[in-house]
Amino acid sequence: MNTQKIEEYIRGILQEIGEDLEREGIKYTPQRVARLYKNLFYRYSKKLQVMNEAERNTKVEEGIIPITIFNTEKDGLLIRKVHFISTCEHHLASITNGECWVGIIPKNKLLGMNKIDKIVKYFAAGLQIQERLTSEIIDWINNNIEPKGVIVVIKANHMCAELQGDNGHFTTSEVRGVFLDKPEARAEFLSLIR
Ligand SMILES: [Zn+2]
Repeated sequence: MNTQKIEEYIRGILQEIGEDLEREGIKYTPQRVARLYKNLFYRYSKKLQVMNEAERNTKVEEGIIPITIFNTEKDGLLIRKVHFISTCEHHLASITNGECWVGIIPKNKLLGMNKIDKIVKYFAAGLQIQERLTSEIIDWINNNIEPKGVIVVIKANHMCAELQGDNGHFTTSEVRGVFLDKPEARAEFLSLIR
């Protein structure tokens, strides 16, 4: 991401909405926004990379987010809740108060629960719609650890919908594996995240 270009474009927007670019409070806004965008949109310049336990301490290249996957004999339900923010691709408006619950019933492989935070935040760090965010997270986990089942529930507020008079609150969910055909597995997960 060329931060200087971003600054230029932000200056142009500020000018068009009628701001005074020399005003004290605005002066450094283009630089601040460019810095903010770097954090908000890092997924375009980074990649998740699966590593096994033996590789876990090897140095990774810049732009790689390592996710260590290890063998496990656990087969109970594991749940992680992750807070996130994102940006809607239709209006470039903020998606706030994001809460993502991930439930996993592992088969042979598992990842550290704190790595789930990295995965959720990574997929949120670009322009998104909530439905795709939900499926990107569940597909990544499902494809990489091939669990017995995985379920993802996301709740978030969409600023663009609030501006249009809606309450802006959306919930999305997806399930894979045993959660598809075992309603009791879904029920257990749902009772635990309430
Ligand atoms: Zn929107």
